[in-house]
Amino acid sequence: GRCVVAVDGPSGSGKSTVSRRLATSLDARYLDTGAMYRAITWAVLRSGVDLNDAHAVAKVAGEVDLRIGTDPAGYGVTADGTNIEAEIRGAEVTAAVSAVAAVPAVRALLVARQRDMIAKAGRIVVEGRDIGQVVAPDADLKVYLTASAAARAARRSAENASDVTATAADLARRDQLDSTRKADPLAQAADAVVLDTTELGIDEVVARLRELLAD
Ligand code: C5P
Repeated sequence: GRCVVAVDGPSGSGKSTVSRRLATSLDARYLDTGAMYRAITWAVLRSGVDLNDAHAVAKVAGEVDLRIGTDPAGYGVTADGTNIEAEIRGAEVTAAVSAVAAVPAVRALLVARQRDMIAKAGRIVVEGRDIGQVVAPDADLKVYLTASAAARAARRSAENASDVTATAADLARRDQLDSTRKADPLAQAADAVVLDTTELGIDEVVARLRELLAD
């Protein structure tokens, strides 16, 4: 039957790994909404428009043919037919994504697409920043994952083979931008289950979420 799980939290909280594993174990689809904001950002950078020109940014977002899959074992991300899975994880996109995600018209466009994909999938784990509050307020389970700043930076730098101090600074900068923007700031839904993953392994978190779904 239908089952929608909303997994929100900052980067490095374990969201992606946990969400993918949970989706696989539930035989559900998986949607990485951060990848959608990153893909739009890639298209904006490619177009050369000014990141601070909300109108121009929204126009690029509306015109690019963005496609993303929902298979937890591997979802392709393409923009106008080009595979950009590697590019959207790069430093340029990461540095610009918070500015693009702050444009209300970009959010409106992506939220509508995300709701469509959720409705079509029926059983799906959706990860992001605003899923429990905005995208899927009627989700069967809403989770908000947190972890200490040090643990988050350590995880991200291990993933990217990047310097831990620079990663910590980048996470702090993005947290600040994401939580203070006017459109749908990063915040946990009042009815979300908050899980601190600093001391928990992936398997423990997934097991806990499965228990919560069974309740
Ligand atoms: O999760 P990830 O680090 O890939 O997200 C990249 C950026 O996309 C976040 O820093 C945030 O600015 C934006 N984002 C968002 N809403 C979402 C998912 C991501 O604003 N649902």
